[in-house]
Amino acid sequence: MNKTDQLYLIKLGEIVLKGENRNFFERKLRKNIKKKVSSYSPRFVTQKGRLFLRVLDCPFEIVSSALKTTFGIQGFSPALSVNKTLDDILNAVLKLMSSTPKEKWKTTFKITSRRADKSFPFSSYEICCKAGDTVLQSYPNIKVDVHNPDTTISIEVRDRAYIYISSEKGPGGLPVGCAGKGLLLLSGGIDSPVAGFLMAKRGLRQNAIYFHTYPYTSDEALGKVKKLAAIVSEYIPEMNLYVVPFTAVQLEINRNSHDEERTLLMRYAMVKIANRVADKIYAKCLVTGEALSQVASQTLESLILTDSASDLLIFRPLIGLDKEEIITKAKRIGTYETSILPYEDCCTIFSPEHPLVKPEKAKLTEAYQKINLEPMVLEAVAETLNTKIKLSEKVEV
Ligand code: ATP
Ligand code: MG
Repeated sequence: MNKTDQLYLIKLGEIVLKGENRNFFERKLRKNIKKKVSSYSPRFVTQKGRLFLRVLDCPFEIVSSALKTTFGIQGFSPALSVNKTLDDILNAVLKLMSSTPKEKWKTTFKITSRRADKSFPFSSYEICCKAGDTVLQSYPNIKVDVHNPDTTISIEVRDRAYIYISSEKGPGGLPVGCAGKGLLLLSGGIDSPVAGFLMAKRGLRQNAIYFHTYPYTSDEALGKVKKLAAIVSEYIPEMNLYVVPFTAVQLEINRNSHDEERTLLMRYAMVKIANRVADKIYAKCLVTGEALSQVASQTLESLILTDSASDLLIFRPLIGLDKEEIITKAKRIGTYETSILPYEDCCTIFSPEHPLVKPEKAKLTEAYQKINLEPMVLEAVAETLNTKIKLSEKVEV
């Protein structure tokens, strides 16, 4: 049986504002799309601000979910490309309409047309009028509304004629990978998956790292983190998860510190370990889900302290958001329902009743050094590097 070819017009987001290095961003975008539809012989054509994707025998749902999770895409539409004759263009308009789900057809429409090839014998205005008449004859119940139409049918006459309707929204942003690679500190909570998503939207590829305090935190807690990482990895190609065996470090801190210092010392150790792991996997920054004043370890003084444990830049994209705003985003991304599953995180289990909220940096740094965690930190880093979990395969909990 003959395979059929499907064409999609992809509208680029912020990439269009790029100057000379625009090619670099477009190459990343094509690569990211290609990975998602690799089984369907993807091919690309770039035409003056437009990116076209061709696939073979690929169901719309697969292309749609691939493009909706690829940063750098503003929108996309199924399209047809036909010979540059008026008859072919009008037939294509009707063909696209008949193959578009009925619910997309409400009551009003508009035609837009662009004639990049000025040798085409009809003006843009004439193309619009002829296509509009054709639609009205075949669909007498719908009306023209040029100001606020339910559906827009676009016709572009270039090397061939391209016709497309019903634009679907993409996630916007910039292609993942164009901003380099970072390491996301991913807990099982609501915030950190959202933080990873937001940094990916700015083009940062990320691997994730989870600090696991087994048996104080359960296998279910780890399973939940894997699931969250898998959801976020839909947006971040080739994301891996690393699991830090954190129990020895955590217990050593508990044995050798005052109650109220415990959380901050633990966070200090996390940042130290994350720096070392990042270094080994060539990640150039850390990402956390911290928001200013959300909890004791996220006051200005506490953040200054944890910052001082890091040689790497720490991105905190949620810093100015309140919890409601973060929850709204988590629901939209699809991580919220997993984040609220009840398995405890180590921070909660070991957290003191009255944690410090305004730590003195010098005092806490000294307390950390006194514990002499270095050998344990090195061991934890070495073990972590053997725990790489590839997230390209779906994870079941
Ligand atoms: P989340 O912020 O993910 O909802 P949380 O609010 O319970 O979880 P906090 O204690 O506020 O987590 O920690 C702040 C940030 O530190 C998290 O957003 C995450 O980036 C990082 N973090 C905390 N615990 C862990 C952990 N066990 N493994 C990896 N990162 C962690
Ligand atoms: Mg938090």
